[in-house]
Amino acid sequence: MEDAPGAREAFERARAGFEAHRGLGVRERLAALSTMKAVILERRDEIVERVMAEVGKSRTDALIAEIIGTVDWISWLERHAAGLLKPRKVKTPITLLGKKSMLLRRPLGVVLVICPWNYPFHNAITAIAAGVVTGNAVVYKPSEHAPCEGLVEEMLACSEVLRDLVHVVYGDGSMGRALIDEGPDKVFFTGSGATGAKIMSQAGAKLIPVELELGGKDPMIVFADAPLERPVAGALWGAFTNAGQSCSAVERLLVQSPVYERFMERLIEEAGKLVVRPDDKGDADIGRMTAGFQRDKVIAHVEDALARGARLRFGEVPGRDSLVVRPVILDGVTPDMAVWRDETFGPVLPVMPFADEAEAVRLSNDTGYGLCGSVFTADRARALRVTEALEVGGVSINNVNMSEGNPGLPFGGVKKSGFGKLRGPEGLLGFTVSKAVLIDKATSKIEANWYPYTEEKHRRFNRFIDALYTGRRPRLPGIARHGLGLERFSQRPRSRG
Ligand code: NAD
Repeated sequence: MEDAPGAREAFERARAGFEAHRGLGVRERLAALSTMKAVILERRDEIVERVMAEVGKSRTDALIAEIIGTVDWISWLERHAAGLLKPRKVKTPITLLGKKSMLLRRPLGVVLVICPWNYPFHNAITAIAAGVVTGNAVVYKPSEHAPCEGLVEEMLACSEVLRDLVHVVYGDGSMGRALIDEGPDKVFFTGSGATGAKIMSQAGAKLIPVELELGGKDPMIVFADAPLERPVAGALWGAFTNAGQSCSAVERLLVQSPVYERFMERLIEEAGKLVVRPDDKGDADIGRMTAGFQRDKVIAHVEDALARGARLRFGEVPGRDSLVVRPVILDGVTPDMAVWRDETFGPVLPVMPFADEAEAVRLSNDTGYGLCGSVFTADRARALRVTEALEVGGVSINNVNMSEGNPGLPFGGVKKSGFGKLRGPEGLLGFTVSKAVLIDKATSKIEANWYPYTEEKHRRFNRFIDALYTGRRPRLPGIARHGLGLERFSQRPRSRG
């Protein structure tokens, strides 16, 4: 972009915007976001077109993830943000009798949002909306591999508030580093673990808080009692939507042994019906991959697996001459293969049989990642047990990639998939800092715990503690007597008696 700011200028503009709009309430900020939502809905075909051209996803993939996912989040904010951000009364314990407590939510200041290339519109607007509604200004840097130049700015153009508060900067990792050097009040990063680690160490040196939404190696577990058609269709969509370039794509499929071969036959049959074609009119399932380096990683994972004895059950080793990659299904895989161990981020589905619930959980958790997972079974109790046991940030039961479909639920991983949450109350409040307030009366009395300390005061505090905390329950007469005894000291600011 010709007039896109550099790092320093973006932060100067964002800080000025933050100061200029400090006084705005949540409702006014929401009004700006609602105006933008209307623009997104109105111009959705154009947005879909732009994203398709840049990253190559299928038209329906773009519509579902980039548009529905985004407006759903803004709609959720319209309903819930004001309630979540308003000052809240907090109970005050008996030890602080007569006082009141409150919790305020305050913006952080200028939040730096750094995004990857796989959902260039959705990732950008979701984080921007969360930043703005909570009262922050935002500096946003898209990936150099999918900058969608000017697109976010066109959405922001509908509102002066948004134009002042949000500033888009273009560039690669070196620009990312320059932006962190400007001292944002928080870095909200979505991308790979390797970059996340670099960002954390750069930000750590300046004590800048970071939130990391990183990669995954999500397991999908299919028990023998699940009706077959649904997990077959779910596995194909979960693994291949966005050509597998989703952080929460199904990257490991575990199928219980008694139905394994039957399941594989159906999976392969249905995979054969998938339409893979870029620039579709809404009639293709999978588009192209976004970048050559990502396709090469897919090739490396498939070649490594085949060299180590995996079976190619569907598809072929992708060629290096095209970004159109037909889905690959492998079995006979082992835990040491890259395709089972590392994030592939492409249309490859390795499948492994398992004997029982314990083995399914063990295999699922045998990874450094922990983003999401899914479990298909007719046994509800088992589904909940497995859900508890999976070391992940979200689980879909008899569905796939869907815990993130509800904007009221937090999205984010554990282990090497990162920390912090996006969306849901937790995700929203992550863009704020709490301020604890204790309110007392304006009187001439002092506090019993203020000076002067005396032996008598010390004794009374001890008795008060005994009455309150020792024994099975608080002893009210003792609390009253010793509480009142201590209260006497409040009347005598200067006496040591
Ligand atoms: P990446 O880490 O290579 O790049 C992400 C962003 O970081 C880009 O904008 C890049 O320019 C920037 N960057 C690179 N080096 C930097 C540095 N030193 N300092 C600051 N910024 C720097 O990731 P990618 O290839 O764009 O995206 C793919 C990864 O993102 C996958 O691992 C995927 O799982 C993950 N992802 C996670 C989520 C999630 O919500 N958990 C969502 C989407 C993608």
